Amino acid sequence: MFELTSSPIDPAALRTRLAAPEAGALTVFEGRVRNHHQGRPVARLEYEAFDEMARLEGEAIVAESENIHAGATVLCVHRTGTLQIGEIAVWIGVASAHRQTGFAACRHVIEELKLRLPIWKKEHHPDGASEWVNCTVEAGSNAAGDDTHARQVALPEIGPGGQARLAAARVLIVGLGGLGCPAALYLAGSGIGHLTLVDGGKVERSNLARQILFTTAEIGGPKVVAAAARLRLHHPAGRISAHAGDLTAGNARTLVAGQDVVLDCSDNFATRFVLHDACLALGVPLVQAAVHRFEGTLDVFQRGAGGCLHCLWPGRPAAELDFAGNCDGAPVFGPAVGVLGVMQAAEAIKLVLGLEGLAPRQTRLVNLLDGTQLAIERPVRADCPVCARLDQLKAATEQLAASDAALLIDAADVSALGLSARVIFLTEPGDDLSAPGMARTVPAHDLARLRELAADGPLVLACRHGLRSAALARMLRAEGMGAVRALAGGNPPAGLQSFLR
Ligand SMILES: [Zn+2]
Repeated sequence: MFELTSSPIDPAALRTRLAAPEAGALTVFEGRVRNHHQGRPVARLEYEAFDEMARLEGEAIVAESENIHAGATVLCVHRTGTLQIGEIAVWIGVASAHRQTGFAACRHVIEELKLRLPIWKKEHHPDGASEWVNCTVEAGSNAAGDDTHARQVALPEIGPGGQARLAAARVLIVGLGGLGCPAALYLAGSGIGHLTLVDGGKVERSNLARQILFTTAEIGGPKVVAAAARLRLHHPAGRISAHAGDLTAGNARTLVAGQDVVLDCSDNFATRFVLHDACLALGVPLVQAAVHRFEGTLDVFQRGAGGCLHCLWPGRPAAELDFAGNCDGAPVFGPAVGVLGVMQAAEAIKLVLGLEGLAPRQTRLVNLLDGTQLAIERPVRADCPVCARLDQLKAATEQLAASDAALLIDAADVSALGLSARVIFLTEPGDDLSAPGMARTVPAHDLARLRELAADGPLVLACRHGLRSAALARMLRAEGMGAVRALAGGNPPAGLQSFLR
């Protein structure tokens, strides 16, 4: 349950409301008003909210937390209005059977409130001054003088421009196991602006040796929630989204769309193919790794580069081909997944920065037992149905570009078409037909007149932005009137005005 109140919070009364015989733990967080903030003394605070919006969002956060942390009952109360030093601004109580559920649910709620609740805080200082505090800046560390990334910005390959590209980038990580944990830490550490984590699993004791984002406190809880919380502590400036569920054929494209790079840190072939196909379809580069015992493979798949996952494994592989390694019970050397996960992060960062990475169509084999690395060329199968489809798509795009090259004509080249060539300016309703150069005009919707003119010799269509004219010229050419062109760039330049008259 979530509540807003303008009266002082009474913790004893709230604790009573959470009393339940089956709850062995009551976890309470009290956020209080302190007398200083960022080196300035504070006299009192003021909270202002869009009540209805804040209530809805607060209820959603609490419901989400109870849903993720099965067995937790959450009560959260947030103050509005004027608060004095020492008063409680936010109170969160979680009743649960066990303490771990309580801690995890409580932390989830406070972190999400900080990010999502539409509530604003104004600080009043003892000298009478006051200011609204930007909660996101407070949560992050983007303030001037922040030297979090100073050491990598000093690299000429990155610099302030590269750092800005990283801050604007979106990266999806599928799988928060032995590969995903170190990859996520290094990506967040590099300053990637928005990381989305996908994993439907829960933290198990046998994960802790390799999955370095988790501690014993999170055993039994959803991996993505624990991972997101940990990453926010490390790198508060970045945005972290968590999807607590598996990647499926149904949600893959939605999750991949809009990402700059995708990391496949999953541990099974089914996910691997679904993710690979979504990335290829949407043209998002995919960095894939897999580990078996002491050895790992690293691949970067990019649309158009050839040599896709289907070339590598013609036909869907049988379940027994699933050698990915860090799946349940399979023997694996911990440092091998660590090294490969970090290598995935490095490739992703280079892709964002536009730096040269792993050669296309190359599989990098890394052996942690004998310390060797080997690069092998990925096969390109001539009969690969997926690559063939992509080739067709590429060919169609190129064909369209080539036909557009013949379609468009620069103003300077119009006179070369000869004296019989006519330039027609397409008008839209509301155009001022008395303006200079408007003599030879035809309304854009008058297709009959345009067809008539097109049948009569070389014709150049012009319009304000060059879009309508190109579309109409393309249509007339498709109807067999090959002498129709469109003026590149739209609105005819001054030099052509006389020609139009
Ligand atoms: Zn292929």
